[in-house]
Amino acid sequence: MAYLEPAPIHDKENPLDSMMSRFNEATRILGITDEMYQILKVPLRQVVVGLPVSMDDGSIKVFEGYRVIHSTILGPSKGGIRFDMGVTLNEVQALAAWMTWKCAVVDIPYGGAKGGIACNPRNMSAGELERLMRAYTQAMLDVFGPDRDIPAPDMGTGPREMAWLMDEYSKAKGMTTPAVVTGKPIVMGGSLGRVEATGRGVMVCALAGMERLRINPYKATCAVQGFGNVGSHAAYLLQERGVTIVAVSDVSGAYYNAQGIDIVEAMKYSEQNKKSLEGFAGAEKITNEELLALPVDILVPAAKEDVITEENVHNIKAKMIVEGANGHTVAGADKVINEKGILAVPDILANAGGVTVSYFEWVQNRLGYKWTLERIERRSDRIMRDAFEKVYDTAQKYQVSMRIAAYIVAIEKVSQTYKFRGGY
Ligand code: GLU
Repeated sequence: MAYLEPAPIHDKENPLDSMMSRFNEATRILGITDEMYQILKVPLRQVVVGLPVSMDDGSIKVFEGYRVIHSTILGPSKGGIRFDMGVTLNEVQALAAWMTWKCAVVDIPYGGAKGGIACNPRNMSAGELERLMRAYTQAMLDVFGPDRDIPAPDMGTGPREMAWLMDEYSKAKGMTTPAVVTGKPIVMGGSLGRVEATGRGVMVCALAGMERLRINPYKATCAVQGFGNVGSHAAYLLQERGVTIVAVSDVSGAYYNAQGIDIVEAMKYSEQNKKSLEGFAGAEKITNEELLALPVDILVPAAKEDVITEENVHNIKAKMIVEGANGHTVAGADKVINEKGILAVPDILANAGGVTVSYFEWVQNRLGYKWTLERIERRSDRIMRDAFEKVYDTAQKYQVSMRIAAYIVAIEKVSQTYKFRGGY
């Protein structure tokens, strides 16, 4: 997956605070007991490892790696591994909890986890990255497992890294174990449709939202912030369904064309230009802040956390926000979004298409059988659509935003399951 340079951590909020603030509100509305609150709040297991890795220049560099398992109440924990300079334990804790809520919202049998290594993959050779991934896998041999904890790609990692992980784990266990990780290359047990799955889920949520707001996709405009795996596929699929994508952005800046940007051309250009849109001729350059403030129907944030803040939320003119990225909106900005009447489809619903097709990949690996793309798309579209409707109805029932409604749906499912399973 592509990635962006680390954004400065917002000084007033961090991803964990943002997650907890929504979690607190949803548990209050649901009237969760203090005991249950503690059970759902505290991560089950947190592993921090030091990883000495030989660099190409002969030196040895020690990286810090994390894996946080937030919950296994619904099933083995699931969640990606992030390679990014901004990775901290605090961020990984928030992302792990979001995975728990995300899997619960789309009703797949997984708990939540996340891993991360503070590193800059852009400045590392393939050999250095491979040694780092293998060292991390070795350190996590008793954490990972097809029935225990199943990693996947996240920012800065993709099929290549998942292949190294699968190989290292398989060698250590003495048997080829494809189901230990998802997001693998297709030739070695990866699923058709996995790469574009998160973007596709964003598209399904955007279309469902447009229906509710009575916006005709053929007359709709959209701005996409972030042109990595999620943003580019979401833009492409929305354009395919008639939406005019007037702006996209990546680390090099934002690009605007009122007539619509040709997303196929932009994807080709970025691919040939070291994953950067710098110099793309089909649009004029604007700033990222200008992109966020465009008078579009749909805003798709697909970069990383803490982009919509208390400071810039006032400038947003979109009628709908569909959050491809995790933790994109800080909790302090929610109030203004609600007051403005913007329909915000929250991250834990909008970007759940990725983990949904990861689940299909895991099922296929366990069956030793391959599904067609048509079957995968049909089933994942249905799961995303059903989840959207459930969250929308819950928002009506409790008179809350879709974000709080998504947390309510998730927390209800996890807490009810805990009650049936019981504790000590
Ligand atoms: N990293 C992705 C996410 O945040 C995918 C996780 C997975 O497929 O397990 O949802």
